[in-house]
Amino acid sequence: MNKAGSKGNRNQGIKRRAKLWRKEPICEACGKEPATSFSQFRAGPNGMGVTWKFTGDCTIDTEIRWEGFDRAFRSVPAFLDLIANTAGKHRFEPTDFFLMLERFRRATDSYGEY
Ligand SMILES: [Zn+2]
Repeated sequence: MNKAGSKGNRNQGIKRRAKLWRKEPICEACGKEPATSFSQFRAGPNGMGVTWKFTGDCTIDTEIRWEGFDRAFRSVPAFLDLIANTAGKHRFEPTDFFLMLERFRRATDSYGEY
C-alpha cells in the first residue's frame, strides 16, 4: 500500500500550488521523509495510552489513526473541524495533542503566522 498516495499532497496549500509552510515538516518517527499526516499511536504501560506524532509512510503499520495533511489543511474550516472532532474522540489527551502541534509549528517555522 502506498501511504503517500492515500494521504495525497502533503503541502498543497489552500491556494492551488501555494505552500502552507515555510519549511517542510519531517517525519518524527524516522527523521528522513516528509511528514504527511498527524498520526496516533498506542503508548504507555500496556499500550493503554495514546500519543500523537506527525509522520510519513514509515508508520503505516503502527499508527492506529491518521489525519492526512491534504484533508486537514485543505481549508481553515477543515482544520477547525479536525481539531474539534479529535477533541471529542475517546481517550483524547489534550496535552499530548497540543504538544505535537507545538512541535509541528516549530518544524514548519510557523511562528508569527497568527
Ligand atoms: Zn518516517
